Amino acid sequence: MNRKVTVIGAGIVGVATASYLRRDGHDVTIVDMGPPGEYCSFGNAGILSPGSCAPQSMPGIFWKVPGYLADPMGPLTVRWSHLPKAAPWLIRFIASSQRARVEQIADALRPLLKQTFDAYGPLVKHAGVTDLIRRTGYIAVYQSEEAYRGDALAWKLRRDRGVVIEKLDAAAIQRMAPALAKIYRVGLYLPEQGYVANPERLTKSLAAQFQKDGGRILQRKVLDIEAGPQGARALVTDAGKLPIETLVICAGVHSGELTAKIGEPVPIEAERGYHVTYSDPRVELPLPVMAPEGKLFVTPMEMGLRIAGQAEFAGIYAEPDYGRADVLAKHMQRMLPDISTADATKWMGRRPSMPDSMPVIGPSAKVPSVYYAFGHGHVGLCGGAPTARIIADLVAGRKPSIDVSPFRVNRF
Ligand SMILES: Cc1cc2nc3c(=O)[nH]c(=O)nc-3n(C[C@H](O)[C@H](O)[C@H](O)COP(=O)(O)OP(=O)(O)OC[C@H]3O[C@@H](n4cnc5c(N)ncnc54)[C@H](O)[C@@H]3O)c2cc1C
Repeated sequence: MNRKVTVIGAGIVGVATASYLRRDGHDVTIVDMGPPGEYCSFGNAGILSPGSCAPQSMPGIFWKVPGYLADPMGPLTVRWSHLPKAAPWLIRFIASSQRARVEQIADALRPLLKQTFDAYGPLVKHAGVTDLIRRTGYIAVYQSEEAYRGDALAWKLRRDRGVVIEKLDAAAIQRMAPALAKIYRVGLYLPEQGYVANPERLTKSLAAQFQKDGGRILQRKVLDIEAGPQGARALVTDAGKLPIETLVICAGVHSGELTAKIGEPVPIEAERGYHVTYSDPRVELPLPVMAPEGKLFVTPMEMGLRIAGQAEFAGIYAEPDYGRADVLAKHMQRMLPDISTADATKWMGRRPSMPDSMPVIGPSAKVPSVYYAFGHGHVGLCGGAPTARIIADLVAGRKPSIDVSPFRVNRF
């Protein structure tokens, strides 16, 4: 049965979801306060990693946090004024680091993310942008065997779930990425992974194709949702009321504000990250490079080389602190000493992060005909199209290809 579906959010999750729903023949409208692909989906590292099933909160994280915070080149910052607000989320985050829970999370994430290339395939083909998807694999590089051993469990979680990982020595790292500084002793090559050469163009291209296929995009801010026991009736927007029938909330980090309006609050935090993109770097990388010690990626994009990373807890609305991007720039110079830094742009984006590193995917537990697809944290690009296909299955009454119960909204 074809339905009238409204999707809040034109990030990669919302646009992919709207595209899959439209393919099923539904009458689909996206509502977003800005143009497609200009929020968190604009500036990520572009990594499509079907193997990224290790959660952010791993055993021992509690003891690592003080070191991260004390290190000026470290990956983590907390704005102290935001700490009281973030504390309940942070406590849940630490609680998720128990070994048994980490195994469960990896069991749930792997089947979802494993579908990434398969789920993007039909969308990029239809939109004529298959060039954006690069299946190069990536390498992860460590400066010491000890640092590598510190992450052993994260790699084991992946290997145990079938992710192909080949170990590299210093010479092999140099052969694969000759521009890298000769400071890396241990490397890993993950051949089944890949990346998107321009995440903004991906979202915008899929959105343009969605409109060509008869989908509508309205630029409005959703202020409230009118809902009752029968379902959601209307969106209250900055340009008046919009009657709705089936609703999908894909509003990234703002999703918690919206679910709260219908009595279903969720623990979601803005895990703010930064990037620096060098448009004329004068060095080349044939594939993305992950530097786990700095928790960052360098990706060869069509706009140049991009370094992306950092986790800053400062709330959704605080001004960016581009000092965090400067930290990434320093890492870049260490990693690629010959890089030309003349033409660089900086950006901050808000990862929509749940404390257990798992998105919320599935129906509302309270309001009929309302579905959720948000909270993908570090893997929203990778998880976008797989999530979209699942939501289309649920709306159509088909059984999704994976067990989605671990992603239910009322798991907290
Ligand atoms: C530095 C960095 C690097 C990253 N690297 C990767 C990576 O390599 N691979 C990966 O898979 N992921 C990565 N991510 C994560 C990824 O970018 C996000 O998970 C993903 O973009 C989230 O997509 P989304 O569609 O849920 O949210 P968004 O892109 O944030 O979209 C949400 C949309 O909802 C709209 N919206 C919100 N509230 C309202 C409202 N009230 N009314 C109307 N519209 C509203 C917003 O305007 C926005 O357009 C990275 C993130 C960062 C910050």
